[in-house]
Amino acid sequence: MSNNMKNISAQRLAEMVRSGEISATEAVTYYIRRASEDPWGAYITLMEKEALSAAEAVDKRIASGEYLPLAGVPFSVKDNICTEGVKTTCASHFLENFIPSYSATAYLRLLASGAIPVGKTNMDEFAVGGEGDTSYFGTSLNPLDRTKATGGSSSGSAVSLASGSVLLSLGSDTGGSARLPAAFCGVYGMKPTYGSVSRFGLVGMAPSFEQICPMSASLDDNELLLRVITGKDLRDMTSKDISYEQFDGDKPLRVGVFLPDECDLDVRSAVKCAAQKLSDRMWNVENVSLPESAEAVRVYYTLSSAETYSNLARFDALRYGRMSERGTVIDSRSEGFGKTLRERIAEGVYVLEHNGGEVYRRALELRRKIRVGMESLYEEYDVILTPVCHTALPDRGSLGYSGDLFMVYANLCGCPALVIPLGRDGDGLPVGVQLMANCGGEKLLYEVGRIMEGRDVT
Ligand code: GLN
Repeated sequence: MSNNMKNISAQRLAEMVRSGEISATEAVTYYIRRASEDPWGAYITLMEKEALSAAEAVDKRIASGEYLPLAGVPFSVKDNICTEGVKTTCASHFLENFIPSYSATAYLRLLASGAIPVGKTNMDEFAVGGEGDTSYFGTSLNPLDRTKATGGSSSGSAVSLASGSVLLSLGSDTGGSARLPAAFCGVYGMKPTYGSVSRFGLVGMAPSFEQICPMSASLDDNELLLRVITGKDLRDMTSKDISYEQFDGDKPLRVGVFLPDECDLDVRSAVKCAAQKLSDRMWNVENVSLPESAEAVRVYYTLSSAETYSNLARFDALRYGRMSERGTVIDSRSEGFGKTLRERIAEGVYVLEHNGGEVYRRALELRRKIRVGMESLYEEYDVILTPVCHTALPDRGSLGYSGDLFMVYANLCGCPALVIPLGRDGDGLPVGVQLMANCGGEKLLYEVGRIMEGRDVT
């Protein structure tokens, strides 16, 4: 069985389970074993008991004739997404033993579609970071090469996919956190249109920027997962039903390419090669620049740190979290939060309080300008192609802010962005490229992605 299961797609596995070729219980037993042998530190908590009882329930639902789009498909869940009765730590010492009494809507939608949860994945503490190295539980290693960056903050989700212990994963992305690790680990990550996926049950970092995101080992599975988790949820006031722009294969698309000179050679050739595939279809492919590109990263950090500061204020060890032996809120937070998170919160305090909030107001104004600039860009171009990072696959610990420029636009503007592991560097390791579109452009992104992979549109 194991050989069949290794490179199988979620769609194919679900078909096999639906047709009775394999039971959900048999399938999941295989993936649980892989997850429990995981040497890369992908997981914080394994969900063996929950997985087996979910699989049994799926087998019964199939036997009673129910149609389940993700029957028996194993998935992992970033540990900032609440799972009733199962620890949700946000990779923080502070929430080390937190067990939520309810589940996130996206997670419940996956269970309803027949998918099986295998475990909660490692991440940067409270999603603050870009390499997975702020986790209280240690950094997840990149299974493709352990000397290279894994990317973060959804590091464990990407690793669980790349190492084959699941076929789908739920990550989250505030400023690149699903897309960067996807690219570095050679898998797919989509940051959907703001509001299209409910954030109910996501322990937020910066709510006006983030979404729960589909991550997967194949492009088609990513789209299937998005379809399952998307849709209005009365428990999230920002969620809405999105009408996706349809793709018309006969109409030439207009493609803008943003490729700054500072990008390294492997990155440049991956983006150029992707652009070539699109101009081969006689599409109009032109170089573009992005609005306020000297300021965008700063605007992101200014505004998101202010949101992180206020959003995390509820973690006072009275309502949630581990109380210090000294019994005070301030000691509990200082002991429970790691250094990077404490620094980020301090930045947020500065942003909101310095000069009567002037820094914050200026950044808000720039965010508005960036949004307006992107809106006009999308009047001229249907999709925008960019690198994921200036360097192809950085060494562990060397990433810094070099991934942020390409990531933050989608979060600042609420637009969708898809990362595809398209190219290869000199060592045969993946080099991701990113496609962005205006809100509701997810379908376009998936179809253009298929074309870049040299496949037919669906
Ligand atoms: N690196 C970014 C930050 O630290 C992204 C975080 C995220 O997307 N959750 O803010």
